[in-house]
Amino acid sequence: MSDTHGGAFLDPAQAPGAIFTPEDFDAEQQALFDTARRFCDEQVWPRLADIEAKVPGVLEGLMQQASDLGLTMLDLPEEYGGLDLPLPVSMRVLESTGREQSFMLTLMVQNGIGSLPVALFGSDEQKAQWLPGFASGELRGCYCLTEPGSGSDALAARTTAVLDGEQWVLNGTKQFITNAGIADVGFVFAKVQGEVDGASGFTCFIVPLDAPGVSLGAEEHKLGMHGSSTRQVILQDARIARGNVLGQIGRGHVIAFNILNNGRYKLGGTALGSAKCALDAALDYAAARRQFGQRIVDFGMIRRKIGQAAADIYAAESAIYRAGGAIDALANAGGRTADAKLAALQDFALECSIAKIAGSELLWRVADEALQMFGGYGFLEEYPAAKYLRDARIARIYEGTN
Ligand SMILES: Cc1cc2nc3c(=O)[nH]c(=O)nc-3n(C[C@H](O)[C@H](O)[C@H](O)COP(=O)(O)OP(=O)(O)OC[C@H]3O[C@@H](n4cnc5c(N)ncnc54)[C@H](O)[C@@H]3O)c2cc1C
Repeated sequence: MSDTHGGAFLDPAQAPGAIFTPEDFDAEQQALFDTARRFCDEQVWPRLADIEAKVPGVLEGLMQQASDLGLTMLDLPEEYGGLDLPLPVSMRVLESTGREQSFMLTLMVQNGIGSLPVALFGSDEQKAQWLPGFASGELRGCYCLTEPGSGSDALAARTTAVLDGEQWVLNGTKQFITNAGIADVGFVFAKVQGEVDGASGFTCFIVPLDAPGVSLGAEEHKLGMHGSSTRQVILQDARIARGNVLGQIGRGHVIAFNILNNGRYKLGGTALGSAKCALDAALDYAAARRQFGQRIVDFGMIRRKIGQAAADIYAAESAIYRAGGAIDALANAGGRTADAKLAALQDFALECSIAKIAGSELLWRVADEALQMFGGYGFLEEYPAAKYLRDARIARIYEGTN
């Protein structure tokens, strides 16, 4: 049984329970992390120019390769083709792809906000319909909450849903939707107009992106994450089946916020992974670069930067994996059902937010100091530091601004 609940770190009287650390990973799990890291190094990194230029088919092809390795089924239930890995393990797999942040984001969405809504809130029929495709990579999902007029204030969304016979008719625009350009289905939040089955209001819908009335905006031109797809999802009298309500009518906020708990946790962990890669790149450079007749890595001020980054990484990693282990233990104590996993995420909402802030602020600081260690070359696109910094910036904004 898990004796640890969310916020326990604030209570000095609380028994610590078994605190998870990365040293708890076993050899089989380490092999999975190595697979993810090698895939990133050997398949993703060499295609960087094509990924950044959004050459058609490249990202999709890499995602299919990732699926073939089992990297898109990390958290899905085994009965639907998933691996149902413990949360710290699936987190570490994603973290291991931190070298290329656009690809990592694409993979993270597929393993999180782009598939988990069905896994955690779907009916048995919806799970059977969608989850095997998400697990195999045949289907990709995206999460459509933000609108042009509502970001932080997500419940102020203006997209509407009206029941017309056996179909819902949706109208509205969803903004900044990650993976929209490669997705088959979106989890769209809209307000049900009038009472349907005695309920109305904010509701989540499963929307096939090829449904009549659904279209996409152009790819956004972004400061960073150039390889990741970010588009509007536009609903103009979009028609979907009546059965595509996810969860209950009027309870969309429960889905939105709990899925974001998982999303924030994973964002923290993936940012941690990229911070490690940015530091590694700076270390390699500092060991090779010579000024005043010696390697710059031997200067005290450079060593201070490296030491500070390493200490910050250690602190964020400890907090993130401790939280992941505690969330997983609580889900296990509840029988590891969808409801138990949800309850655990809700219980640890505070730690999920802390993970998000700790990881994303860490990444920003480390990417900045890494670039500084490259000197003027850090400002050139042909060296890796510029891209780490550009890509890092968004982590402090999305999934809820820090
Ligand atoms: C590349 C990218 C990918 C994204 N992917 C997705 C996705 O897949 N799905 C999705 O639904 N959304 C996505 N988003 C949207 C993202 O989550 C929002 O941009 C974010 O939540 C902030 O909303 P906003 O941009 O409307 O800013 P606003 O909410 O308008 O905030 C503007 C500023 O005001 C501050 N602010 C707002 N409210 C308060 C307050 N109460 N007190 C103090 N300050 C406040 C904010 O912190 C911020 O600094 C993505 C965004 C980007 C840029």
